[in-house]
Amino acid sequence: MNVLAEVQGKSLVERARQAAAVAGQFADDVDREGRFPHEAVAAMKEARLLGIQVPVHLGGEGASIADIAEISSIISQECASSSMIFAMHHIKLSSEVEHGIGDAWHEGFMRRVADEQLLIASSTTEAGIGGNLRNSICGIEVEGDICRLTKEATVISYGEQADAILITSRAHPDAAMTDQVMTVFLKGQYTLEKTHDWDTMGMRGTRSEGFLFKGEAPKEQILPQPFAEIAAESMLAVCHILWSGVWYGIAVNAVARAQDFVRKAAKANPGSMPPGALRLAEVSSKLQLIKSNVIAGLQKYDEAKANPASLTSMGFLVAMNNIKLASSQGVLDVINHCMLIAGIAAYKNNTPYSLSRHLRDAHSAQIMISNDRILSNTSNLLLAHKQNTSLLG
Ligand SMILES: Cc1cc2nc3c(=O)[nH]c(=O)nc-3n(C[C@H](O)[C@H](O)[C@H](O)COP(=O)(O)OP(=O)(O)OC[C@H]3O[C@@H](n4cnc5c(N)ncnc54)[C@H](O)[C@@H]3O)c2cc1C
Repeated sequence: MNVLAEVQGKSLVERARQAAAVAGQFADDVDREGRFPHEAVAAMKEARLLGIQVPVHLGGEGASIADIAEISSIISQECASSSMIFAMHHIKLSSEVEHGIGDAWHEGFMRRVADEQLLIASSTTEAGIGGNLRNSICGIEVEGDICRLTKEATVISYGEQADAILITSRAHPDAAMTDQVMTVFLKGQYTLEKTHDWDTMGMRGTRSEGFLFKGEAPKEQILPQPFAEIAAESMLAVCHILWSGVWYGIAVNAVARAQDFVRKAAKANPGSMPPGALRLAEVSSKLQLIKSNVIAGLQKYDEAKANPASLTSMGFLVAMNNIKLASSQGVLDVINHCMLIAGIAAYKNNTPYSLSRHLRDAHSAQIMISNDRILSNTSNLLLAHKQNTSLLG
C-alpha cells in the first residue's frame, strides 16, 4: 500500500486525532514563544488533511463543511492556534470549491492543493478598512494577461508560512469600494514586507502579522465571480461555522479539564460531592448550547446549499450571524465557569487544569470580525426580516 492509500484508509476523525496529538504536544511552547505551530501543520499535511475538501475528481476527498468543522474542533481541543490555521485554510479553499469549479486555472490550483498539501492564507483586512471585509481600498490592475496588486494588509495569519494567499481588492482601481474581487497569488508571485508584529494575548501561534503585499500573476488567477457573491453565497457562512467549530473545541477541552478536577476531588473524598460538581452540571448544559448552535448552523448551511436562492436570503444571513455571535460569547462563558470549578489550579499556568491559554485564545472570538460589526449588520436585516419561529427549521 502506498503512503497516500495508507493515510486515506483511515477515517477523517482518526487522521484528525493523529494531527491533534502532535498539536497538543507543542501547544504550550507555541503559545509561550508566539511561534508558528510547524509540527502540527506538518502533521496535518502528513495526514493529508489540507486537501480533503477538494472534490474527488480533482484529487481530493470531497469532505463536507461538517467534516471540516469536526476536525477543527478535534484539533482545537489540543491547540486552538493550530486549529484556527486549519479552519482558515479551509475557509479559503471553500471559496475555490464553491466558485472555482469549471475554471481551468482554479481547478488546477485545487489539484495542486490536494497533491502538494498547499497551505492557503487569507487577506481581507486592510489599513483604513479594518474588519469591514466587504470594502477595499486597494484595486487590482489588469494589463494584458497580467494582474498586479499592492495592499496594506494589516493582518495575514501565517502569511510568511503560506503557499498561497487569497486576497480581496477592488475589481479595478476606479471601481467602487464594494465592487471587489478575490485573487489567488502563489508563493513566488508576491513579496511581503512586514509592517505589524503579532505579539498578542492569545491565538499566538497563528502568526497574524501585518504586511505590505505586492503581487503580480496571470489574470486568470482572479476568481471569476464577484467577491460580493462569494462572500454572501459561501464564505461568510463557512467562516462563521468553522470558526465556531474551533471555539467549541476550546470549550470542550476546558470542560474536560474541569470535569477531571471534580472527579479527582470526588475520589479524594469518597461519599461527599465536591463543591464544583453542581457547576460542572451547569457548564455541561452551556457546552451543549454551543454544540447545538454549531450543529444547527451546519444543518442550515446544508439546507441552503440544496436551495441556492436561500443562501442569500435575510433569514439565512441572520442565522449565520447569530451562530458566530452565540459561539464566540458562549465559549468565554464556559471557560469562566470552568475557572470557578477548578479555582487556582485553573488560574495557574502549567497545571493539568490550567485555562489561561484557553481564555486568552477564546478572547479572539469576539473581535475576529467584531461582534459589534456583525450586530450592526443583523440589526439592519431585522428591520425587514420576519422571524422564523418554527422548531422544524
Ligand atoms: C486570531 C486572528 C486571526 C486573524 N487572521 C486574519 C487573516 O488571516 N486575514 C485577515 O484579513 N484578517 C485576519 N484577522 C482580522 C479579523 O478578521 C478582523 O478583521 C480584525 O480583527 C478586525 O480588526 P479591528 O478590531 O481593528 O477592526 P474593526 O472591525 O474596524 O473594529 C474596530 C472596533 O470598531 C467597532 N466597530 C466597527 N464597526 C462597527 C459597526 N458597524 N458597528 C458598531 N461597532 C463597530 C468594533 O466594536 C471594534 O471594536 C484576524 C484576527 C484575529 C483575531
